[in-house]
Amino acid sequence: NLKSMSDLVALCKQRGFVFQSSEIYGGLNSCWDMGPYGVELKNNLKARWWKSMTLRQDVVGIDASILMHPTVWKASGHVDGFSDPMVDCKVCKERFRADNIDMTKPCPKCGSKESYTDVRQFNLMFKTQMGAMEDTSSMVYLRPETAQGIFVNFLNVQTTMRKKLPFGIAQIGKAFRNEITPGNFIFRTREFEQMEMQYFVKPGTQKESMEQWKETRWKWHVENGLRAEKIKWAPHGPDSLAHYADAATDIEYEFPMGWGEMEGIHSRTDFDLKQHQEFSGKNMNYVDQVNNEKYLPYVIETSVGADRCLLAILCDAYRLENAGDPDKERSVMKFHPALAPIKTAIMPLSKKSELEEVSNKLFEDVSANYKSEYDVAGSIGKRYRRQDEIGTPYCITVDFDTLNDHAVTIRSRDTMTQERIGIANVQNYLKDKFKF
Ligand code: ATP
Repeated sequence: NLKSMSDLVALCKQRGFVFQSSEIYGGLNSCWDMGPYGVELKNNLKARWWKSMTLRQDVVGIDASILMHPTVWKASGHVDGFSDPMVDCKVCKERFRADNIDMTKPCPKCGSKESYTDVRQFNLMFKTQMGAMEDTSSMVYLRPETAQGIFVNFLNVQTTMRKKLPFGIAQIGKAFRNEITPGNFIFRTREFEQMEMQYFVKPGTQKESMEQWKETRWKWHVENGLRAEKIKWAPHGPDSLAHYADAATDIEYEFPMGWGEMEGIHSRTDFDLKQHQEFSGKNMNYVDQVNNEKYLPYVIETSVGADRCLLAILCDAYRLENAGDPDKERSVMKFHPALAPIKTAIMPLSKKSELEEVSNKLFEDVSANYKSEYDVAGSIGKRYRRQDEIGTPYCITVDFDTLNDHAVTIRSRDTMTQERIGIANVQNYLKDKFKF
């Protein structure tokens, strides 16, 4: 029940999830930094994706460099085609994506009429110089997608791993796009992280493979705790299909500003391998020893933005309960326990040394297995609220009874119910709760 993105931006800043980049200098447009809880959450999300992709026989991972040979981007089509149509307002100089505004209407920024420049194509790739020479020969790009690092490594991976089709290559890494209109918090930024997997298949089997990956990817999002009614398929019709694809569909999430793409699943044919074969002069054929054939594999790609998926997770987890009731109102982040940045908080009821001694020992034991916090400051109610807002699934309170019964109170974030558990059983209790 998140109403507006600004509520989430405020919570993320206040609670240490996401900060504006270079904030003390006024910030840098569309750039954001992960704070201590943001990075834990994002690392958990990436680890879950990585496991779901690579803990299977048919997918291996790589980590390619961001800077690549400039011809890669000629071959991939990005130099000539990776652009958005752009117009400027002649009066206020504001820049717009031409397909995002109605040019028959006044400028949405300054209100002036009929004042747009002609539509120009604006290439979204960032350029930089490599080495000491500042001429065109030393120009390189920051990769606008991670996929090409996988395509150019196809032969290396296939031969060293002795992989037979079908098999996939997975990668998580940064990508950069000089977006004309970034915005909506971390939804569209100029620097972001992608989690991509390219699955190489025998031509003719791509439809079946695409259906399998669609099912796998949908399930993954639901298993991360996203409510099924907040996600939907958005298939690409012939008009919005990329020129190299024979089918494509997105998984959209209902963000506070509306439905938006979170993941793309694309059937890319043999376009990429064919292009790299042509531009590099290297034979990219797969030798099918079973059928005694040689051919370029087709590719099914699953591509999800780590930051955009993180935004969906944040939006989905946010709940304001008992709004308006001063005694009962609480905001709580209902993260899936596997994603929660902090798993447990250990709280001695007071600063009395007998309680702290037991609590410290418990913290040491528990935090060896689960990222935990130790919190002794303020009323217990306030401490619970703070942990609710960062989505900690379990708070463990050590009180004066603990000294007699050697037990603690474990309070659940979601139900707010409390259970009395013997200290000796805490590890087993948590092990059971964090089974995933
Ligand atoms: P959009 O239409 O939103 O620009 P796209 O169709 O260009 O996205 P792809 O090239 O298919 O996106 O990239 C795959 C995924 O990478 C997207 O589904 C999204 O999650 C993520 N992504 C793409 N561009 C950005 C960006 N500027 N900021 C954050 N994430 C992005």
